[in-house]
Amino acid sequence: MIDPDALLDWYEHAQRDLPWRRPGVSAWQILVSEFMLQQTPVARVEPIWLDWIARWPTPSATAAAGPADILRAWGKLGYPRRAKRLHECATVIATDHDDTVPDDVETLLTLPGIGTYTARAVACFAYRQRVPVVDTNVRRVVARAVHGLADAGSPSSRDLGDVETLLPADDTAPRFSVALMEFGATVCTARAPRCGVCPLQRCGWRARGFPAGTGPARRAQKYAGTDRQARGRLLDVLRGSDSPVTRAELDVAWTTDTAQRDRALDSLLVDGLVEQTADGRFALCGEAGS
Ligand code: SF4
Repeated sequence: MIDPDALLDWYEHAQRDLPWRRPGVSAWQILVSEFMLQQTPVARVEPIWLDWIARWPTPSATAAAGPADILRAWGKLGYPRRAKRLHECATVIATDHDDTVPDDVETLLTLPGIGTYTARAVACFAYRQRVPVVDTNVRRVVARAVHGLADAGSPSSRDLGDVETLLPADDTAPRFSVALMEFGATVCTARAPRCGVCPLQRCGWRARGFPAGTGPARRAQKYAGTDRQARGRLLDVLRGSDSPVTRAELDVAWTTDTAQRDRALDSLLVDGLVEQTADGRFALCGEAGS
């Protein structure tokens, strides 16, 4: 049990002023924020999201953009396949849903790039529906406050039902959902929970004396030297060029490990983020003909 009143009171004064939570933001723009926020910190998303929705405020405007423009605007948010999926999602909504983001979870789940979390986040945050929205932060808060455990362990099919039982029965449920997520992101954090300022009167983990977790120790995610970084470097070269580039121009962007560079380039081609011209040069998707 998590006391809804305590959580909602806390959220009222502690919530961050995030642009996608402001009045007047459309369901599509909220959906764009959810695509961008997957595995990416708010501070990096905020400027890119603001530019993006000013430029492409609707699904049809996004769908009409060229794929290379989409990849350039995605900038250094990382995991660029998300940009491609967002473009595909915009196209389906523009053509099959009258340029309107569907409001039910089942239909949202049929859209490109939308999974269990994003479908419910859009239904809840954009359409104020009483649906459980479960991300890593929420799972951690529930594990600690409700189950008395240090960590949530691996995601499970039980997570949705677990969180649904916590939702208030009335129309405060959507606000409770966003508050729970915010609480996990800013107070009950993974590495340094701020228990001294916690607004919850009851926390199972605190009541048990904060027993250590039993799962494997968390390891910081490494970026330097990974295939992801190599892919990013190659994409940077292509984003910065308005015409196809030679293999040599790409090769110089990642010289530490040539096998890794080849692998990164192959994966970009397979993912459809990069194309090859007839004369063997490379370009962002949609620009191989230029
Ligand atoms: S007391 Fe600490 S661990 Fe428990 S819910 Fe509050 S912040 Fe999280």
